Amino acid sequence: MNNFSYTQAATAKEATGRHKDTPQAAYIAGGTTLLDLMKAHLEEHPQLIDINQLPFRGVEQTKDGLRIGALESMSAVGEHPLVVQQYPAVSQSLLLAASPQLRNMASIGGNLLQRTRCGYFRDPAFPCNKRVPGSGCPALEGDNHNLAILGVSESCIANSYPGDLSVALAAFDAVLTLENPKGKQRRVPLTDFYLLPGNTPHKETVLEPGELIVAVTIPAAAHATRSTYLKVRERSSYAYALASAAVGLDVQGGTIRTARVALGGVGAQPWRSREAEHVLTGAPATEATFRAAAAAAVQGARPREHNRFKVELAQNTLVRALQQVA
Ligand SMILES: Cc1cc2nc3c(=O)[nH]c(=O)nc-3n(C[C@H](O)[C@H](O)[C@H](O)COP(=O)(O)OP(=O)(O)OC[C@H]3O[C@@H](n4cnc5c(N)ncnc54)[C@H](O)[C@@H]3O)c2cc1C
Ligand code: SF4
Repeated sequence: MNNFSYTQAATAKEATGRHKDTPQAAYIAGGTTLLDLMKAHLEEHPQLIDINQLPFRGVEQTKDGLRIGALESMSAVGEHPLVVQQYPAVSQSLLLAASPQLRNMASIGGNLLQRTRCGYFRDPAFPCNKRVPGSGCPALEGDNHNLAILGVSESCIANSYPGDLSVALAAFDAVLTLENPKGKQRRVPLTDFYLLPGNTPHKETVLEPGELIVAVTIPAAAHATRSTYLKVRERSSYAYALASAAVGLDVQGGTIRTARVALGGVGAQPWRSREAEHVLTGAPATEATFRAAAAAAVQGARPREHNRFKVELAQNTLVRALQQVA
């Protein structure tokens, strides 16, 4: 790990001011992913700015929906009664992620900014367009069994966001509140926050230099209350998703009034499927409808040699999740 200085910030202004003075600095919340990246020399920062004293806390009901502070821990949010009752899929996405120890340390904001688990990205011995633009992508012809099939490009086929929470947030129209070094706040829908790789896989989000994630707001909706997050992984103790589905349905008299669908583990970004939602809306809540929605969700998939199985796995995961909430 490179040498770095460490400082605690008491206010957002102090944190962003310090970041402005040292542009290569990084904020640190739980540190559960940042320190790993630094130890592996995948990221080098001359200064870490500890943001744990900032008042980005609390889970509260507002007129816009449920507002979750970015520094709340994954455990606290996953177990919070308002989240469990109003957004079961969000709660489940958090409680199925990582291990209990990690969830106790890790923050909501840090979770949204974790980086890909592509093995070539994580091993500096290999070239990688995401790490060093223009250097190449060994995953295209190499081991790509855990990489993405939707939204990929010839430059990168990684799941840039490999985690769980953002998949549920993408399904339920969550909005992020961000604050920049000038003290200005802006709101960005989660579905606009992550960028597709295109020719610039090193640009992963719309976050500007020094910008902080302050909070996440999720609007209330009947389909969010009747929701689930289903995660398929290689071991049940803890592992990232090979495929996952966050779904919510508002069903009345056997007909689906509104539907929300997002897939994880298969997209270059958390994959909201408006195509699947279109098939589901107004249709009977039957297995035939769910199968048609699943087929729509993987339209345009571009699998490679080792991740072809994900086309079928993603569909089966989605059908099972829809059956659970129907
Ligand atoms: C073994 C292991 C297994 C895991 N399994 C899963 C899993 O199955 N599913 C899953 O979803 N995740 C998984 N994770 C990832 C884990 O959820 C993340 O490490 C954690 O959520 C990161 O949160 P943190 O607060 O520790 O972030 P940090 O490590 O402190 O920060 C991460 C990044 O976010 C930035 N940052 C943090 N907070 C803010 C903020 N408020 N504003 C702006 N920037 C900020 C930091 O500068 C840094 O770049 C796993 C991690 C490990 C180590
Ligand atoms: S898939 Fe993306 S992250 Fe993985 S090696 Fe290729 S460019 Fe790098």
